[in-house]
Amino acid sequence: MSTCIFCKIIAQQAPSEMLYHDDLVTAFRDIHPVAPTHVLIVPNKHITSINALSPNDERIMGHLFTIAKQIAKDEEIDQTGYRMIINTGYDGGQVIYHLHLHLIGGRPMRYPMG
Ligand code: AMP
Ligand code: ZN
Repeated sequence: MSTCIFCKIIAQQAPSEMLYHDDLVTAFRDIHPVAPTHVLIVPNKHITSINALSPNDERIMGHLFTIAKQIAKDEEIDQTGYRMIINTGYDGGQVIYHLHLHLIGGRPMRYPMG
């Protein structure tokens, strides 16, 4: 079994507040939310980061965005708006090396980014 915390959550061998799961992607709430809605949407496949993506993963990543959109609607932030973020590598602030999309909303986002 992988030591990756997100792989464990996907396999339901670690606790999470899971919102969605299918054969390709899983969504669960971030344990340290930065906004009223903060959901992580992850591929079930252990892809370490955007740097490790291959053309074979395009179906997974397309599906990931479609599910993220659906979760934004379920969380009732689709009309007020939201931000989606994928941190990559050290300068990108990536802490967990299992690719994940942050879906953040429920309050106005700060700008400029970075
Ligand atoms: P990143 O900096 O993009 O790698 O983001 C990692 C995110 O994972 C952070 O927002 C953490 O709060 C979140 N996180 C870490 N461990 C867990 C966990 N066990 N369940 C849910 N979210 C987690
Ligand atoms: Zn993993």
